[in-house]
Amino acid sequence: MAPEATAPANAAKFTLEQFHIDRTLGTGSFGRVHLVRNRQSGQYCAMKVLRKAEVIRMKQVEHTVNEKSILEVLDHPFLVKLHGTFQDSANLYLVMEYVQGGELFSYLRRCGRFPNHVAQFYATQVTLAFEYLHAKDIIYRDLKPENLLIDAQGNIKITDFGFAKHVPDVTWTLCGTPDYLAPEIIQSKAYGQAVDWWALGVLIYEMLAGHPPFCDDDHFKLYERILACKVRFAAHFDLDAKDLVKRLLQPNLSKRYGNLKGGSSDIKRHKWFAGVDWIKAQNGQIPAPHIPNVASAGDTSHFDKYPEDHAPYGATGPDPYADKFVGF
Ligand code: AMP
Repeated sequence: MAPEATAPANAAKFTLEQFHIDRTLGTGSFGRVHLVRNRQSGQYCAMKVLRKAEVIRMKQVEHTVNEKSILEVLDHPFLVKLHGTFQDSANLYLVMEYVQGGELFSYLRRCGRFPNHVAQFYATQVTLAFEYLHAKDIIYRDLKPENLLIDAQGNIKITDFGFAKHVPDVTWTLCGTPDYLAPEIIQSKAYGQAVDWWALGVLIYEMLAGHPPFCDDDHFKLYERILACKVRFAAHFDLDAKDLVKRLLQPNLSKRYGNLKGGSSDIKRHKWFAGVDWIKAQNGQIPAPHIPNVASAGDTSHFDKYPEDHAPYGATGPDPYADKFVGF
């Protein structure tokens, strides 16, 4: 189901000719994201290209349509903005703001692990973004450091709404990234917004420990570990953070923080966040702990290099999938 348009849809219709296509910034399961430049305005943007045939083969039509319809109605400082979309007979295109500082994932791996105040800064922004999404009945479902981009001011922008969904009550689809899956998803139970708060617990742990709380190369064993929910905390792990992580990594939904009567305010009032001015945080007035070195608007130095071996864009001719992506 598409989200209710609580705000006017703010995305435009573009054409491929309006953009100069530059290097690849990242790849996903059925496409890639390019740096592009609007030929008329000179503005740099990130353009996500999804191959229709792959989207259909991977049974992701509904998720892809959700991604567009959800991004269209979002307007929040810590969520990536969609400028517009278009399609040709082979591909779907989403044109977004370009976030220059790269993935939080790369920064975290470079640092090993974050000191408490750095993890707290990013967790604050993710909490506010989730609060905004959940108020619109949208579950994000794919939190992980790869999907958190750092902008030129050092603030977070969440990208990749490929699994986001408007869910007023519960849903059942198995999706997300294995390390970050809540137990109720693994158990094929009906689940809701609380899966995002579980994932926040995984993220806080990963930022402070340098690795996720549950790891195993074998997915089956990984799921067993998540269900057993035995989390080991190193001696350096901040005690308040440990308390909050335990309350978020809580398999019992009637005890999980974020899912109690107090909702997200239980998380915001937790002692690990003591000292955070949530109004200032919402207004982006808390100085970021790390300002990426961005030399120019089109600087791509914070992104890994990828082979540019994609098929040419701008396919013409008959569209065998026209009925699947009407209005994209
Ligand atoms: P996605 O398929 O949406 O997960 O995007 C794949 C990768 O492309 C991300 O992990 C980022 O490295 C990069 N990326 C996605 N969106 C943007 C953006 N708006 N600005 C800069 N890089 C992006």
